[in-house]
Amino acid sequence: METIHTIEWMKQIAHEARTQERILGLVPTMGALHEGHVSLIRAAQRECAPVVVSLFVNPKQFGPAEDLSKYPRTLEADRAALEALGVDYLFAPSPQEMYPPDFRTSVVVEGLSDRLEGGSRPGHFRGVTTVVLKLFEIVQPRFAYFGRKDAQQARLIRQMSTDLNLDTGVVVCPIIREADGLALSSRNVYLNGEDRRAAAAVPRSLAAVRDEIAKGERDTARLLAALRDVISAEPRVALDYADIVDNETLETIASLRGTSYVLLAAKVGDTRLIDNALIELDGDSFRVTI
Ligand code: AMP
Repeated sequence: METIHTIEWMKQIAHEARTQERILGLVPTMGALHEGHVSLIRAAQRECAPVVVSLFVNPKQFGPAEDLSKYPRTLEADRAALEALGVDYLFAPSPQEMYPPDFRTSVVVEGLSDRLEGGSRPGHFRGVTTVVLKLFEIVQPRFAYFGRKDAQQARLIRQMSTDLNLDTGVVVCPIIREADGLALSSRNVYLNGEDRRAAAAVPRSLAAVRDEIAKGERDTARLLAALRDVISAEPRVALDYADIVDNETLETIASLRGTSYVLLAAKVGDTRLIDNALIELDGDSFRVTI
């Protein structure tokens, strides 16, 4: 595996892959790799060669009071893991390389980026779409792989790709979870013993929604009440938001129809967790994928 730190060299490699008509796949990450990332890499390797994994803790997607400085950075362990997985290139630019002092441009997906996560984290998605467009331009991947763990982010990136006629196909992969249901996240290392135990209430609240749907409930206010009951029974977990939204518009729906997401964010101690379940119409019932 070759590690690349400069944009110029990454562009050169990508250009060579394209002229050889190879199908280049990109997996964008912020590092501190876990099995969720690995699942995206494996998906990319099934469909693409070469595979580029980018590792960049993007300062523009962190708010001033957020965890940029303490975000886990484990470059050497990540590099070894990627090497063992057979990844072709690790693209790990510095913040100065990505954002020189006179950097001025940003990309905003209007509307979709200012609610839910965007409501709680103003400017977050502006940072995400800006860095992802830069990565797409630098790496020019045929396909890029994202996790449904960040469902709103994936929806925004797909919109950006359509709106800007990008040549990159956006692939969204399932959520990888711990045995107790907690979605894997680089931030899970912040959770100490009691908080780690309490965090399982987050996926449990999604399971409560699934159970109510299985019993025939279709009213989203009542489904969300079931979710809130689980969260409020766990005093260490504070709900930030929970909503059931149309998968395309990300707008709240009053009763289940078509495809939707139940999305939530919650704080466990100082650690902010997000999670979601996908709800799809399946004949005359609904299938819930957590
Ligand atoms: P991050 O390094 O947290 O920015 O995540 C990089 C990519 O991995 C994003 O597309 C995430 O949605 C995805 N990802 C993170 N956690 C998981 C997970 N538990 N399962 C599947 N994908 C994930």
